[in-house]
Amino acid sequence: MTRTIVMLALTFPTAHAQPPPKSAPCPCGTSRTLGAWCDKHEAGYIANVKIESVDLFEWLDAHGHHIDPDKIECPDCKIAIRDNGYCERCKMGYVKREAYLSRLTYHIAKARPRKAAELKCLTCGNNARRFGWCDRCQVGMIGSVEIAGRQDYEKAAESFRILLIAVTAAPKCESCALAIVSDTTCRACSITYKNGKPVPAPAPAPSSPRR
Ligand SMILES: [Zn+2]
Ligand SMILES: [Zn+2]
Ligand SMILES: [Zn+2]
Ligand SMILES: [Zn+2]
Repeated sequence: MTRTIVMLALTFPTAHAQPPPKSAPCPCGTSRTLGAWCDKHEAGYIANVKIESVDLFEWLDAHGHHIDPDKIECPDCKIAIRDNGYCERCKMGYVKREAYLSRLTYHIAKARPRKAAELKCLTCGNNARRFGWCDRCQVGMIGSVEIAGRQDYEKAAESFRILLIAVTAAPKCESCALAIVSDTTCRACSITYKNGKPVPAPAPAPSSPRR
């Protein structure tokens, strides 16, 4: 819900949020970091992870949004815009003055895309298959992107780990996949997720709280 409110502060339409024209070449070969949805292959990519659920891909919102810095009122966001930072309060990150609406897409936008062939270090190469930190190189990989700071890496890796769980769940139930990435409940399966794991459903709020 905060997401919807936050979206209102963003200026629309943005050039690259538009669907590509029908004649556009398939983006699958090139844009696998924060890619566009490909109608032909029915897939999109985030850090080289293939996502075949259009609902999940759209929810992940894998692109930056142009912002009008004058319309941003949150003081933490103002600092984040200046420093390519993340605002914990608004759950939005900024890279090159564009807004990203999740930790994962923010960290990926800020990270350095790497090709598997470029990774000379064995540990980093292995890390790129899923995710991991390399003490020797002092960088972390989440999928195909390299993250420089340990703190940034830990936060990005946690959201990436949850993404991988959602991608695995999507073929069985797309609504579960969405509940996994958003810490909510799949209504179809009545399963509530937190940090990528099913948890007991929250107790219904008492109708007449008495104290
Ligand atoms: Zn394609
Ligand atoms: Zn903020
Ligand atoms: Zn390494
Ligand atoms: Zn489900």
